[in-house]
Amino acid sequence: MPKFFVERGNIGEDFAFIRGEDANHIAKVLRARIGEQVVICDGEGSDYSCEITEISAGEVKLSINEKIPCNAEPNVNITLFMALPKSDKMDYVIQKAVELGVYKIVPFSSSRCVVKLNGGAEEKKTNRWQKIAHAAAKQSGRGIVPEVCAPITFRELTKRAGDFDLPLLCYECEEDNSLKAVLSEKEFKNLCIVVGPEGGFDRAEVESAISSGFKSVSLGKRILRCETAPGCAICAVLYHTDNM
Ligand code: SAM
Repeated sequence: MPKFFVERGNIGEDFAFIRGEDANHIAKVLRARIGEQVVICDGEGSDYSCEITEISAGEVKLSINEKIPCNAEPNVNITLFMALPKSDKMDYVIQKAVELGVYKIVPFSSSRCVVKLNGGAEEKKTNRWQKIAHAAAKQSGRGIVPEVCAPITFRELTKRAGDFDLPLLCYECEEDNSLKAVLSEKEFKNLCIVVGPEGGFDRAEVESAISSGFKSVSLGKRILRCETAPGCAICAVLYHTDNM
């Protein structure tokens, strides 16, 4: 049975409730029975092994057997800043980044982004992307549901370098700094990865990011698609930090 995320407010000392869509899924699709085991997660890094005690319309009551730290979270926080790509590539990027262990995803608009979001479209897309993150976290057994933030501008992004031990910008024209070399330069617990859109970054954008504290890194001599680069960089960081 898959792991279910349950709001903290529905988890007591020795009992918990699953409500809504997940409750109906357990009862009607999984056709679970009283006495069956279920693992739930509070979305804050703890799992709870439970037993079903009651099943009613829209609600499943569980008795909690044990609270255990979720071991599916990486030992580093990776924030992905992803330029708005065309069509539904962001859905793919979010799903794979969450499966891999990303901590937070921040979409941004830059000069070569074809897609321009504003107002209602932005909110609708962000809600949809958050649902994709939730589903990917559930499927991959994560201990948190990574937040997908509302899109920011590149200018706002450049002000965020100081939030990280290691703020990295993946630049397709970077000749000197390999990702491997930069990761080996210092210890870090909280890093970010910035990936550009299909058209890449303007030189001026890269210079502005570097002067704001970002380190430009190469992901190798091949030009990766914007939807390939995030997973590539995240995997390299996870491998380097013994999370694989
Ligand atoms: N328009 C660019 C070109 O043709 O050279 C390619 C941009 S690439 C499709 C999209 C983004 O993926 C880039 O902005 C960069 O963030 C990342 N990326 C792709 N290949 C990379 C590489 N070899 N090194 C570093 N970043 C890379």
